[in-house]
Amino acid sequence: MTDTDRRTFVTGAALAAGAVAAPAAAMQGGAKAATTPAAAAYSKPPFPVQRQPWPGLASKMTPRPDHGETSYKGSGKLAGKKALITGGDSGIGRAAAIAYAREGADVAINYLPAEEPDAREVIALIRAEGRRAVAIPGDLRDEGFCRKLVEQAATQLGGLDILVNNAARQQTRPGIADISAQDFDDTMKTNVYAPFWLTKAAVARMGAGAVIVNTSSEQAGDPSPDIVDYALTRAAVLNFTKSMAKQLASRGIRVNAVAPGPFWTPLQVSGGATPDKQRSFGQSSPMGRPGQPAEIAALYVAAADPSLSYSTGQIFGSTGGNGQPA
Ligand code: NAD
Ligand code: MG
Repeated sequence: MTDTDRRTFVTGAALAAGAVAAPAAAMQGGAKAATTPAAAAYSKPPFPVQRQPWPGLASKMTPRPDHGETSYKGSGKLAGKKALITGGDSGIGRAAAIAYAREGADVAINYLPAEEPDAREVIALIRAEGRRAVAIPGDLRDEGFCRKLVEQAATQLGGLDILVNNAARQQTRPGIADISAQDFDDTMKTNVYAPFWLTKAAVARMGAGAVIVNTSSEQAGDPSPDIVDYALTRAAVLNFTKSMAKQLASRGIRVNAVAPGPFWTPLQVSGGATPDKQRSFGQSSPMGRPGQPAEIAALYVAAADPSLSYSTGQIFGSTGGNGQPA
């Protein structure tokens, strides 16, 4: 995020929130200390309704999400690790990519070709940390591509220690009659088959100490009625995390998941939420606002952190107060 973008973001937040505590004050600690330097200024609903063609770009959202571009500070937790992150161009995956690079990891990101402008920004941010950045665009609904993705990432990074299964498809549909067979297939392929194919390819190359980090959702335990196909995939991923953690423990490979609540990302403005839901996005969480991707990046770090060596099959949550899916 450039300084100009940052000013735009904070101005947007000020307009939406009505009153804003200065981020600098939040950084000084004390009773009003925020969890991230900018949290006190994060936007609350109502949000401007916006619609982008799927899969959407973070760079075209108003306000722009905060992925930690200017705030995330690393401390060498993932020094020397090689990580592949799907959906690493935007939203939660971008925040994880920035955090991993700042924690000392080399990072490959996968995304759809239409997301090249977002991906370019992430690649530049990883390189700015002096880490190796690998861009591998392609469609995860294709098993052959998933296999090639793991192979190319491992070859270009010089190994693979961390796989983050983060990409997903979410398209809102009012009733089950509105979910076509093609919709259902696309959602399953992206959200369930791809993590299965990628995990299969990755574990064939991984050794002791490697980690797989999946992305689930609060939707896994408390599904909304208008994203039926999506919600069931987040439950499937949660279950997959637990079975694979048991299966791979003896090989020294850990498998964890992160379960977000509502986060302000392109998923929500490219078909994932109705205009009404967009306007009030995050309102029903006890914090009364959505999370920003910057606020969850540290959980992706924790899920992969070698010092948490007894943590496998765990679900790390960030829901603004609505609890854990399991
Ligand atoms: P996002 O749109 O920024 O990221 C999703 C990414 O998925 C896209 O950037 C795209 O690169 C990738 N993708 C989708 N279809 C693909 C395909 N066929 N091939 C390759 N890549 C494809 O949105 P996000 O909210 O950051 O989503 C990241 C993860 O967070 C998802 O797993 C989602 O289920 C989860 N999640 C999000 C929220 C939320 O409110 N935003 C809540 C709970 C869980
Ligand atoms: Mg994207």
